Amino acid sequence: MRPIEFATPTSVDDAVRRFGSGSAYLAGGTTLVDLMKLDVVTPQQVLDIDRLPLRGLRQDRDGLHIAALERMSDVAAHPDVTQAYPVISQALMASASPQLRNMASIGGNLLQRTRCSYFRDITVACNKRVPGSGCPAREGVNRGHAIFGTSDACVATHASDLAVALVAMDASVALTGRNGTRVLRLEDFYRLPGSTPESENELAPGEIITEVLVPPLPWARRSTYVKVRDRQSYEFALTSAAVAVDLRGDVVADARVAAGGVGTKPWRLRTVEQALVGRRLNETDVRAAVEHAADGAAPLKFNMFKPALLRMTIARALMSLVS
Ligand code: SF4
Repeated sequence: MRPIEFATPTSVDDAVRRFGSGSAYLAGGTTLVDLMKLDVVTPQQVLDIDRLPLRGLRQDRDGLHIAALERMSDVAAHPDVTQAYPVISQALMASASPQLRNMASIGGNLLQRTRCSYFRDITVACNKRVPGSGCPAREGVNRGHAIFGTSDACVATHASDLAVALVAMDASVALTGRNGTRVLRLEDFYRLPGSTPESENELAPGEIITEVLVPPLPWARRSTYVKVRDRQSYEFALTSAAVAVDLRGDVVADARVAAGGVGTKPWRLRTVEQALVGRRLNETDVRAAVEHAADGAAPLKFNMFKPALLRMTIARALMSLVS
């Protein structure tokens, strides 16, 4: 039994001020409590920020503002999201289970830890959990692991579906800490593992994600999220694709493509976006555009299937936008 101090800050500033070494923020609790039960995370102090006034969703000329403590299910069902950014709604609905979506916050979803089974088992080595201890996944059970952005130190995928959709939409996160508030593009917020896989993002100690900003993209109305997984519910992606296309007649004028289940962070595929421009949205052109989607991938022993599956996943997502 380990004693844990529990506190409920009354404001974002109060939370930031109380945060010290050994502190952890608690929001919906669907990640933190899970990892505390497994002894993967062992905070000395838990700061419950769930009642802070970081709720709501609004749209203005800068785009869609989603407060960080808004629940996944509420964002997924919001008409401003379902109509203007269906890819975000669909990514949320493809995540977790209904019960978890009702509890989990948007900020917490973006900060969720990897599902690598070695990371979640404290009896084995894992560089992400215990820096310098090794990465058994590299030569071990790595069917679900990454093929992009990997290093000798870590090959774990990023688990969030929402993050993939948001990276495709060029979203940013507002971070509030001791030095005020700053805004980072979500794509830049996540770090590649390199030699320090324990350092997953740009959050400074005590900083809180307070808002997600999705810039205006009128043609995002034609967007979708396709997730391929071992079972149709409550399962993480083997591959996924967040796509949007700006169609002029039947020719693609612009496109967004990001992939999940394949990268150590949400993986934007700009080569595919560029390859789509000027093509028609038909089987032949889409197949040609996705041909190089997995260029540069580094598959592992048990996930050699991922490059081909990724190409098929993106193609399926794009073809679903034809109608
Ligand atoms: Fe740990 Fe990353 Fe290796 Fe998994 S892939 S065992 S999370 S270091």
